[in-house]
Amino acid sequence: MSPAEPDGARGGASAAPPPSPAPSALSVSDAGTEDRYSRLKLIGWWDQRRLAAARVVVVGAGALGNEILKNLALVGVGRIAVIDMDRVELSNLSRSVLFRASDAGEYKAAAAARAVRELNPDCRCLAVTANAAYDVGLGLFRWADLIIAGLDNREARLAVNRAAWQAGRPWIDGAIERLQGTARVFLPPDGPCYECTMGPADWEMLERRRSCALLRRDEMAEGKVPTTPTASSVIAGIQCQEALKLLHGLPAMAGRGFVFDGQNHDSYMVSYQRKEDCLSHDSFSPVEETGWSARRTTVGEVLAAARERLGPDAVVDLRADIVSALECPGCARRDEVFRSAGSMTEKDGLCPGCGARRAPAFLHSFAGGEGADGRTLAQAGIPPFDVLAARSGMDRVFWELSADAPEALGVLHEGPEG
Ligand SMILES: [Zn+2]
Ligand SMILES: [Zn+2]
Repeated sequence: MSPAEPDGARGGASAAPPPSPAPSALSVSDAGTEDRYSRLKLIGWWDQRRLAAARVVVVGAGALGNEILKNLALVGVGRIAVIDMDRVELSNLSRSVLFRASDAGEYKAAAAARAVRELNPDCRCLAVTANAAYDVGLGLFRWADLIIAGLDNREARLAVNRAAWQAGRPWIDGAIERLQGTARVFLPPDGPCYECTMGPADWEMLERRRSCALLRRDEMAEGKVPTTPTASSVIAGIQCQEALKLLHGLPAMAGRGFVFDGQNHDSYMVSYQRKEDCLSHDSFSPVEETGWSARRTTVGEVLAAARERLGPDAVVDLRADIVSALECPGCARRDEVFRSAGSMTEKDGLCPGCGARRAPAFLHSFAGGEGADGRTLAQAGIPPFDVLAARSGMDRVFWELSADAPEALGVLHEGPEG
């Protein structure tokens, strides 16, 4: 499904004469000079300055993520953050245009970010080696104009979906398998979200993933879906075209999906229905910036501020469950942990004393007295640059750990007025 050359005016093509309406190399409007983006600027609505100022978070640097990043770099999206926690393996090379054999063993996010900068030095690209579902602060998603995901499992999609709704940012999902795939656009706060599109079969697969001891299974066979570089370029191409429309304020396929079947070359659009009882429509608004930092501010300080603002019953809700302790049924030992539940493996759950499988104690909020008050937020399992939700009854306040911005945004940081 390679799109036709838009104007047939390929520089240096010698054999056939160019078709008549081909613009000469010097007839480019804008500044009147030929540059990297000249042919793109021939599109009437194209605004290169808008793209140069755009901020995009790409979740996943696998087969889809590679194609997404390649496209964003080619069109000159100015600021990109790419989140991935895995390392490059040789089997990735058949589907990953940004990776070389010499990258094997390196973190995908780092290798991809470097390739983006090589592809287009106009792009600033930050590598975030972390699990997007648990260990990335909401501040990064709030920083972005939009989020594009190339993920291979429903659990991560659900987490990105919730973050997109909390942050109020559009997100574009892509999924591929063999020669087929789907691209869809979700636009909070209105319309359906990813969770609204999930049917009983999706929930069943999700539960199967979550079932084992509630802790992530070490050797989860995720990412073993058969995928092709061809399907990923089709789907990532659609995702990025939707991103271009959104970044230009043009209508996009909000709340709808593009389904492509490469076996028969059928494609069609589906419209999703919003479920009003869906649990993923929570919006963190308005968010207040604070001078807090995950590494310096303690849970106790935040709780005190929450009580001062909302009253003595105030608690601080967690965006992702935290395992506060592991209790061994065998030798009755109890170890404090304070780590995001999603980051923990089955191996982490084994007792160092007797080898038994320990029971995790989960926390959904800090209310005081969990043993976390004296810990910094980071030591309590909160990622840097996150947004905390303090609550008392129905009253809520949202506080961003804004002091983490320079470090969390790295090369993307632009000072107080960004
Ligand atoms: Zn929903
Ligand atoms: Zn034990």
